[in-house]
Amino acid sequence: MDAVRVRGLVKRYGDVVALDGVDLDVGGGEVYALLGPNGAGKTTLVEILECLRPFDSGEAWVLGYRVGEPDACREIRGRIGVLPQDFSAIDRLTVRENLQLFASLYDKSLDVDELISLLGLEDKSGKQFHTLSGGLKRKVGVAMALINDPELLFLDEPTTALDPRARREVWEVIEKLREMGKTVLLTTHYMEEAEALADRVGILVKGRLIAEGTPRELIERYAGERTVKAYGDVREAAERLKAVAPRLEVKDNEVEVKLDSPQKLVEVIGILSSHGITRIEVESGSLEDVFLRLTSARITEEGELM
Ligand code: ATP
Repeated sequence: MDAVRVRGLVKRYGDVVALDGVDLDVGGGEVYALLGPNGAGKTTLVEILECLRPFDSGEAWVLGYRVGEPDACREIRGRIGVLPQDFSAIDRLTVRENLQLFASLYDKSLDVDELISLLGLEDKSGKQFHTLSGGLKRKVGVAMALINDPELLFLDEPTTALDPRARREVWEVIEKLREMGKTVLLTTHYMEEAEALADRVGILVKGRLIAEGTPRELIERYAGERTVKAYGDVREAAERLKAVAPRLEVKDNEVEVKLDSPQKLVEVIGILSSHGITRIEVESGSLEDVFLRLTSARITEEGELM
């Protein structure tokens, strides 16, 4: 059974179409990244799945329960964990007190000390929430999302506005969730985050899921071209390379070859090394190239389309 199944989901706010017929499947145990710029509809989509917002049309199932049916949301809420985009705990309570308070709201909860050690928060457990750095606050947020031992976690922009080190620490936590067998649906506008963490990525732009697949599949499909750069006395090799890969550029001591198929890589490297050229770099596409190809735009660090 899919953890999440969405068909033809539409959500409007007045004249604004926030979700314009979204289909989505997230398998059990999968880390799925919904990647898109600010305003794409990511929060709207996850909040519908968390039973927090009504929708206009279409269908959505979470852990087999159909969102909108009587009692479904009670079942769903008991089985999911949520890290909201604007997460905050109670400032004047310590990390442990916040977790204890949250645990007391559920019939069944994980052991607070186990959660503290799972997230590496032992040193911080006696600190008041407001004294923590942004990265530690997000970790507390993930701990809170885990308190009811959910099967499925929704993490809405878990690393937005964190510095690169703190971002990587949160990535490590998400890796742990994967190892624990949790299903994770995260939203992000960071390409490298989706590429590093996700089993599958869905690219959401203006309320439409315009492409979906593993990072590798997306790169192969939309940005599959590889570039080989080699340095040294390349003139003779370049003559032979032309027959294999006609799109090449020769400079003084450098040749740049664009490959239209990955199969040619072995042949090109073979020719270069037979001419004694060993300084070779191979560049492949990234999710950023995929996004650029699909939308003719980039997403800035702040999440804006550019
Ligand atoms: P962000 O990271 O900026 O929150 P997002 O991808 O999560 O972006 P949403 O917050 O879901 O996007 O917003 C999708 C669209 O719906 C945007 O155009 C937004 O302005 C609009 N929108 C969201 N919430 C409301 C609301 N409560 N009332 C009116 N319009 C809304």
